[in-house]
Amino acid sequence: MKLIFLGPPGAGKGTQATGISASLRVPHISTGDMFRAAVKNQTPMGLRIKEYMESGQLVPDEVVIEMAKERLAEDDCRGGYLLDGFPRTVEQAEALEKFSAPDAVINIEVPDEKLMHRLTGRRVCAKCHGTFHIETLADEKVCPVCGAELIHRDDDKPETIGKRLQVYHEQTAPLIGYYEGNGKLRTVDGDNRPEDVYKAILASLE
Ligand code: AMP
Repeated sequence: MKLIFLGPPGAGKGTQATGISASLRVPHISTGDMFRAAVKNQTPMGLRIKEYMESGQLVPDEVVIEMAKERLAEDDCRGGYLLDGFPRTVEQAEALEKFSAPDAVINIEVPDEKLMHRLTGRRVCAKCHGTFHIETLADEKVCPVCGAELIHRDDDKPETIGKRLQVYHEQTAPLIGYYEGNGKLRTVDGDNRPEDVYKAILASLE
C-alpha cells in the first residue's frame, strides 16, 4: 500500500504514522525528519535548507522531489510506503504521480485554533521520534517511552507556527482538491482522541 498523510502541521500525521506504518508493514517516511537530520549533520543540503526550515517556509520543490524520489527507490519501499509531510505542493504531487503514484491519501482535518495549542506544547523525542504534549508529560524534557531527551522544535515556537499555518493554507491545502479530483482522497476527523483517529484511518482504508 502506498499511502500519503496530508494535513496541517500539528494534525497528528507523525503520531498516527507510527502505528499505521507498523500495521500496514510499510516504512514511515517523513521528509521533515530527513531534513532535520541533514541540518543537524550539516550536510551540503542541510546547510542549503536550514533557513527555509527555521523560518517555517517550504524547502524548494526541486530539492524535496529529488530527495523523495531517491528515498522511495530504496528496497524497503518495494511493498509500499507511508509518506508524512510529502507532497506539500501541487508540483510535488504531480512529480510523485510520475515516479511512484500513491494508492490513497488520508486528509487529517483539525481546526487552526486547536493546531496552535497542539504545536506550542509539542515536544518530540530525539531518539524514537515520539510526539507528546506538555500537558500530558510528567517531565517535559524526558521521553516517557524511551527515556531519551525531548526536543522543543525551533519551528514550534509561536512566531514560526503562524507562518507554517499560512504556508499550509496557501501551498498545501490545494492538494485536497487535487486528490479529490483523482479519486484518492479520504478525509478523517483529526480532532479526536489519537486511538479514535487511528481507527478512523484504518476504517477509511477498508
Ligand atoms: P515537518 O516536520 O513535516 O513539519 O517539516 C518541517 C519543515 O521541513 C517544513 O516546515 C519545511 O521547511 C520542510 N519540509 C518538510 N517536508 C517538506 C516538503 N514536502 N516540501 C517542502 N518543505 C518541506
